[in-house]
Amino acid sequence: SRRKSRWGNHERRQQDAPESEDKGDKIAEEEEDAAEPLPVTLFKDELMKAVRGSQVLVCTGETGSGKTTQIPQYLLELVRERDADTTASGGKDKDKDEGVALDTPAPGDGKRPSHNNKKLLVAVTQPRRVAATSVAKRVADERGCRLGEEVGYSIRFEDRTGPRTRIKYMTDGVLVRECLEDPYLSRYGVVMLDEAHERSIDTDILFGLLKRALARRPDLRAVITSATLDVERFAAFFDGCPFINVPGRTHAVDVYHSKTRQVMTATGPASPRYVEDAVDIIRKVHRTQGPGHVLAFFTGQDEIERASRLLSEAVAQEKIDRRAMGIEEEADNGVSEMIVVPLFGALSAEAQADAFKSARAGVRKVVMATNIAETSVTVPGVRFVVDPGYVKQKTYDPARRMESLVVVPISQVAAQQRAGRAGRTAPGQCYRLYTRNCYGGMLGETVPEILRTNLANTVLYLKVLGVDDILAFDFLDPPAEDQSLEALQHLYCLGALDQDGRATDTGRRMSRFPLEPSLSRTLLEAGELGCLEEVLTIVALLSVESIWFTRSKGGGGGGGGAGSGARGKRGERDEEAEASHALFRHPLGDHFTYLAVYRAWEASGFSDAWAKEEFLRVRALRTARSVRSQLLGEVRKASGGGRRRGRQEGGLEVTSCGRDLDKVRKAVCAGYFTKAGQRCSKEWVYRSLAVGALQQEGDDGAGRSGLTLMYLHPTSSLVHAQEPPEHVVYTELVFTARPFMRHAMAVKGRWLRSRLEAVRPCSSDRLCGRALAAAPGAGGGKEEEEAAAAAAAAAGAAGR
Ligand code: ADP
Ligand code: MG
Repeated sequence: SRRKSRWGNHERRQQDAPESEDKGDKIAEEEEDAAEPLPVTLFKDELMKAVRGSQVLVCTGETGSGKTTQIPQYLLELVRERDADTTASGGKDKDKDEGVALDTPAPGDGKRPSHNNKKLLVAVTQPRRVAATSVAKRVADERGCRLGEEVGYSIRFEDRTGPRTRIKYMTDGVLVRECLEDPYLSRYGVVMLDEAHERSIDTDILFGLLKRALARRPDLRAVITSATLDVERFAAFFDGCPFINVPGRTHAVDVYHSKTRQVMTATGPASPRYVEDAVDIIRKVHRTQGPGHVLAFFTGQDEIERASRLLSEAVAQEKIDRRAMGIEEEADNGVSEMIVVPLFGALSAEAQADAFKSARAGVRKVVMATNIAETSVTVPGVRFVVDPGYVKQKTYDPARRMESLVVVPISQVAAQQRAGRAGRTAPGQCYRLYTRNCYGGMLGETVPEILRTNLANTVLYLKVLGVDDILAFDFLDPPAEDQSLEALQHLYCLGALDQDGRATDTGRRMSRFPLEPSLSRTLLEAGELGCLEEVLTIVALLSVESIWFTRSKGGGGGGGGAGSGARGKRGERDEEAEASHALFRHPLGDHFTYLAVYRAWEASGFSDAWAKEEFLRVRALRTARSVRSQLLGEVRKASGGGRRRGRQEGGLEVTSCGRDLDKVRKAVCAGYFTKAGQRCSKEWVYRSLAVGALQQEGDDGAGRSGLTLMYLHPTSSLVHAQEPPEHVVYTELVFTARPFMRHAMAVKGRWLRSRLEAVRPCSSDRLCGRALAAAPGAGGGKEEEEAAAAAAAAAGAAGR
């Protein structure tokens, strides 16, 4: 058949389930839970016994086996039993149980923990926001409670927990930040680190922090869960703790490799056509295959929006053609309709929920997802997987000292996970848009994030937590020394660390904000300069998805919804949008453009209708508004009295700079002078300024390997300036066709120079804290005390 000729290399992944090849075989779909118990439920007793008998348990199981939704509910039973015990024994057992914890002042409160009447929670961490929110919702449903009651979630900028919450789903980053106030996690009875195989940087850090807390609190329990079998390292990290594997319930998946696409390069897709290829496959599946949903993996929102637009258009066109040819609409494969559902992190909660909703009979859902759907969340009823083989990954280039989001080939383990998503409910098929050879050339496993990311925030948290010698911290995979040192240097440049590598007052205050160090530094500077009113808005807008709405609506909506003539209208709408956006463009850069948009929205009374008229994304604006108000809360806390040792704070008064926009520019400069570009003689081309200047004193930095030519991002308002500004700072470098500077702002050369000159050279050895750790009297138990003191100070700085 035609399919076979292009999709050769036919391979069966698993054969461990009796299945029927009958295409008409009914798919259990959403009823699956009711029909068959989840694999994890069969292991409940074993799991409970293991957690009772050991402080740490590692548990593995196929995606969809119930780890994330079920195990926390079991753990709550365990914590509840202990509630009952302590109440019954009048707190006597408690003393025994938590003896060590009681000897230790709870860092942060500065007083003894009062667990007696405090009910401990179950914490469940997720590397992804979508997973935390959607799973919390699901579990709340299962338990018949409203979200925020017994079951809640907490992600950056959004806390849906309440006084009655006992199971708290949260992103791993949120728990890391909680450690700053409470290093021994005293609110929790059990901490479950979920999706440990993802090896996100925050989960990796939690491994170390949790180990410390466990040593201090014998009553604390930890469960580490992973979708892959490679867990011996996890168990070894926790001194050989027990581990349990929950066998999955999977069906055979036929894996087809492309025969045509040969090349995948480490730096990005060789063929930019894979989105189109994926759309073709989806259409073919829809035409030729029986019931079952489709799950296609893309690297990000842009791709997903493009793919769903292409698919909708193609389907609409097909309908027209069919009608023209007088062919009946009726499909003969039992699926007459197709709906496209996007699934990615920045989506609103309601939009995310669409992916999990059941579809009517005869309707095929095409879920276009980012890596989220690889293991974090399970979309019920998927039988067909389309895998282009790419993922967008944060990648750090030590040579250029730059972090960027790049599209890279996935690992073999990831490819297997993706294929596995097709066989959850019934036998399935996986279409790989890469050759079998490409598969062979992929990395075996995904490189842990900690090895490929900028460590600045992590290092700052560790320093604030009193971990002096960063290089000696108990990491599952220690990051490359160079990278830690680079992070230390960056923090030192920003004034977050002193010359001995200790967190400064500035550093502690920075760590309070759930933001990148550069952004929190900008906020602090704005507080001192008196332009927080403006900068809060700017920072909020820099923290959300794009506010620009460029495509006509409906791309992600019902497939086939686009009627004839839509194309012409779309073009007009795009032009209209562009013209409307142009009115906000600010000659000094994107930061001010954002400010102008927000102010105009504010003036409209935060009106949705207004935003839509101006082709702005209402959702992004609303999120920015909520982020702003939360940052405002943090800023107010930070300005309230604290342990200042008499130092007069510039004060985080929220004032406006009026027309003196230089204040805003200077504040941004304080956070971003290390990401600066100077215009080359050639127009519109910039060379990286800060890197060179930091690398070598006195030299202009040109001609070194650190030299990178950079361009203004096509979306930047500076692109439309009469003349390119001499100096710019930007928030990140994106490598697509070229290195593009995103969110650029024009600054003055002398501001940059004075910032750069103010940084006195400092040896990395001192910064990393080796000297401190080696100093007499600083060893062993002292570290813990220092951690406590540091955390207390951090809390103090926030006026708690
Ligand atoms: P694991 O963590 O082991 O991958 P989960 O606990 O996330 O598994 O999922 C267990 C089951 O619950 C799966 O069959 C999945 O389809 C179902 N499920 C999870 N979340 C939802 C949801 N939001 N809507 C419908 N079903 C869900
Ligand atoms: Mg899970």
